[in-house]
Parts: sequence; structure tokens; C-alpha cells
Amino acid sequence: MNLVLLGPPGAGKGTQAKILTQKYDIPQISTGDILRAAVKEQTPMGVKAKTFMDNGALVPDEVVIGIVEERLAKADCLKGFILDGFPRTVRQADALKKTLASLGRKIDYVLSIEVPRSDLLQRLTGRRTCRACGRGYHIVYDVPPQDSKCECGGELYQRDDDLEETIRRRLDVYEAQTAPLIDYYGSESLLRTVDGVGTFDDIQSRISSELGGCAG
Ligand code: AMP
Repeated sequence: MNLVLLGPPGAGKGTQAKILTQKYDIPQISTGDILRAAVKEQTPMGVKAKTFMDNGALVPDEVVIGIVEERLAKADCLKGFILDGFPRTVRQADALKKTLASLGRKIDYVLSIEVPRSDLLQRLTGRRTCRACGRGYHIVYDVPPQDSKCECGGELYQRDDDLEETIRRRLDVYEAQTAPLIDYYGSESLLRTVDGVGTFDDIQSRISSELGGCAG
């Protein structure tokens, strides 16, 4: 199954992608994770991307398109993939279509996870991540077991771009540059919309029923 997860920052794309990865045994391709790893390793791409990311802006299209083209060509994507956080602009969506066509493939579904802006702000400001194992927590909804520590003992941190002012900018960027993809994929009859408010299990079962019957 070739799947794109669409939705604003904080909609839960990453969390749901991790479950779908296990269920369908296909990789999650998160451009945000790939870029954060590049920033951490201080690669030339990471150094360039950091300023955009810290400001809540999008990294230039050609950089992320290059990342995804390279990733989709790897053998583990042959069975399918879950794109999480890509495409984010119409130009990226056009490039994705071209890349897949050149590989003789296409997108099967675009799942748009919808959450009101007021909920997103609250979700994102409370988000914390473990430096050691990458597990995510929320200071209100998914409280870590020990103060400022993960269940694995790792230190928790707040992403640089999860500060309130940056979050507002990221949400504006989503509305202006990414939300048009809802119509883009709607007109290609690929779009499935899921209400992203509720418990993790609620959302998971809504996604399952939208993908219903898809064996992978
Ligand atoms: P995410 O973890 O998906 O919220 O991404 C974090 C940040 O990485 C975004 O705010 C952007 O700066 C950058 N980023 C991730 N994916 C893309 C993309 N497809 N296009 C441009 N920038 C991206």
C-alpha cells in the first residue's frame, strides 16, 4: 500500500504512521525525522535546513524532493510506504507523482487527519520527546512516568519548533501552502478524510475503516 498522510502539525500523523507501519509492514518516511537527524549530525543539508525549521518555515522544495526521491528508491519501499509530512506543497505533490510514475507506481490513498486549530496549539505546546528512544509524551494527555524522564530513563526534550510563536507560524504555513493539497488529492479521488479528535484508539479505528479491506 502506498499511503500519504496529510494533516496539520500536531494532527497525530507520526503516531498513527508508526502503527500503520507495523500493521502493513511498510516503512514510514517522515521528512521531518530525516531533516531532524541531518540537523543533529550537522550535515550540510542539516545546517541549511535548521534555520527554516527553527522559524517554522518550510525547507525548500528541492531539498525535500531530493530526500524523498532517494528514499523511495530503496528496496524496503517496494512493498509500499507511508509518507508522513510529505508532500507539503503543490510542487512537492507534482514531483511525487512524477517520481512514482517513473518507478511504475502510484499513490493508493491520501489520508487527511483533521483537527481544529485550537486543539493543535494545545497539543503541540505540551509535546515532549525522549532523546534516547524517540518516544513521544504530552505533559497533560500522556504524562511521562517520571518527572522529565522517559519510561526508558532517557531525557525528555521539547522540539525547538514546538515553541508557541513558532507553532502559530507552522499552522499558518500549513493553511497557506499544504491545505490546498486537500483539493488537489480530492480532485484525483485519492482523498480519505479522518476526524483526528478523540482517543488514539478512536482515530486508529477510523483510519482502519477508511483503509478497510486493504491488505497491504
Ligand atoms: P514535521 O516533523 O513533519 O512537523 O516537520 C518539521 C519541520 O521540518 C517543518 O516545520 C519543516 O520546516 C520541515 N519539513 C518537514 N517536511 C517538510 C516538507 N515536506 N517540506 C518542507 N519542509 C518540511
